[in-house]
Amino acid sequence: MIKNYIRKELRDFKPYHADFIQQKIKLDANESPFTLSENVKKKLIEWIENEENINRYPDTDSTELRKTLASFWNVSIDNVICGVGSDQLIDCMMKVFIEPGDKVVMPTPSFSMYSSTVVLNHGVPIQVELNSDYSYPIENIIKSCKENNAKILILCTPNNPTGNVLFEEEIKKIAENVKCPILIDEAYGEFTSSTMIPFIKEYPNIVVFRTFSKAYGLAGLRVGYGVGNKEIIDAIYLTKPPYNLNTISQKIATWVLQDYKIYKDRISYLKKEREYLLEELKSLPNIKVFNSEANFILIETNKLNLVKKLEEKEIFVRSFPKNSKTILIRITVGTKEQNKILINAIKEILK
Ligand code: PMP
Repeated sequence: MIKNYIRKELRDFKPYHADFIQQKIKLDANESPFTLSENVKKKLIEWIENEENINRYPDTDSTELRKTLASFWNVSIDNVICGVGSDQLIDCMMKVFIEPGDKVVMPTPSFSMYSSTVVLNHGVPIQVELNSDYSYPIENIIKSCKENNAKILILCTPNNPTGNVLFEEEIKKIAENVKCPILIDEAYGEFTSSTMIPFIKEYPNIVVFRTFSKAYGLAGLRVGYGVGNKEIIDAIYLTKPPYNLNTISQKIATWVLQDYKIYKDRISYLKKEREYLLEELKSLPNIKVFNSEANFILIETNKLNLVKKLEEKEIFVRSFPKNSKTILIRITVGTKEQNKILINAIKEILK
């Protein structure tokens, strides 16, 4: 009976779901293998011992964290908004701009939450296929935005799950030709060198979303942020729920940025490990490896049972069916030890 009351377009809707896996070799969700740094842990313990405001609602504007982010990126606090993960900001952005039936252009394959969030907000996702090497078809994207009178364009760089980046010049070309708001998702931006944050003044229709869930290892605390021109940030504020980010998440994310040196070293470590994994994977038979600028690597293989065999060895990766003969597998870069175990396991399975 209740089903009859559910919005029609949601009756067959599959909500985003991620398995909660608590295994040691968990390389399926692009998380960091590292948790809080020692400095941050110390600050947290001291703060807990003296805390006297958990009975109060958190600062609804995440002021301290936004100030710290603003100085980190050399922008003004008015250029920054914080969310419960970048997921929440993606949702807020859809809520602000989409009227029922409006189109949102996005690449495919890319992060599956984009289309779910658009549908949940009464919009219509328009998916533009990436080229066969997964590079972005710039002209097609511009064309699709114009033809569909797009309300929002989403670009993900480095793209999840393919790992490739959109070059600065490509984004500028798109932003010069597409007038609607452009969401640039840099969730994996710390693992590459380019960012569009320095161009927010020049391109007032872009907003860059980043997260503490990946490079900074705070996935469990859910902290994301957006940086853009004041006008687009103010617009997203219209739909930001009050008190969205809890007090502890705000504190810890601020301390993480203040302990940036350690986190920078961790990022360098993971980038080195990514090169190790790329080299090893490329040397294996029956596996096509795509270059990556993120903390994960996409491979394509005709060994359809590879994921299951890895799971039998307690190694978890993420798979995406491609066709009846091949599958795509996304492997998160782990610690040196985890990566070695993974490579040895794949070698043994392929033997
Ligand atoms: N964007 C991309 C491309 C992602 O892969 C993810 C997480 N899987 C997110 C955004 C959301 O990140 P969070 O909500 O944890 O900040």
